Amino acid sequence: MVREYEVREGEVVVDLPPPTDAGLVFIGRIRTPWTSRLKTPRQGREDGPVCRLEIFDPWKPALQGLDRYESIEVIYWLHLSRRDIVLQTPKSSGATHGTFSLRSPVRPNPLGTSLVKLVGIEGSTVLVRGMDCLDETPLLDIKPNRCQFTPLAPPQDGDFETG
Ligand code: SAM
Repeated sequence: MVREYEVREGEVVVDLPPPTDAGLVFIGRIRTPWTSRLKTPRQGREDGPVCRLEIFDPWKPALQGLDRYESIEVIYWLHLSRRDIVLQTPKSSGATHGTFSLRSPVRPNPLGTSLVKLVGIEGSTVLVRGMDCLDETPLLDIKPNRCQFTPLAPPQDGDFETG
């Protein structure tokens, strides 16, 4: 799934609709050892190198309580990705797949998500293992791992709906 900007045989490129502003704010930047997409892990691993989530002002207070979790979800913006390919041909297979059936960085809104191991918090920097993005990738959000999280607010009706 590693690519820079090329289009491979069988891939389908579309005209990108005009962007709508979702009002996203970058809350920080991710510092990793990788400066080439061709060398970055395709998916991070729990025993990968320690990477740094550097949180910008004014968001440092938002880290309070995060240290209760061993594992956290990191959401980031894969800023160098193409956004206009609907059918993709991962290099290894030669077969073509729909973008939404892949975890490729090439997608209309290039969000990356990783469940990573929380190593520690030093001031406004969160240390984690398990990232798979380029150095300086913009950071969008951090959440506790949903499997370790119990909502703090009381349950509401929808929580009990099944079927
Ligand atoms: N773990 C995330 C996910 O599943 O949503 C991202 C997986 S994606 C396959 C990881 C690949 O994206 C890396 O191997 C690299 O080729 C590419 N990549 C990493 N950082 C990027 C960035 N800032 N802009 C564009 N591509 C990036």
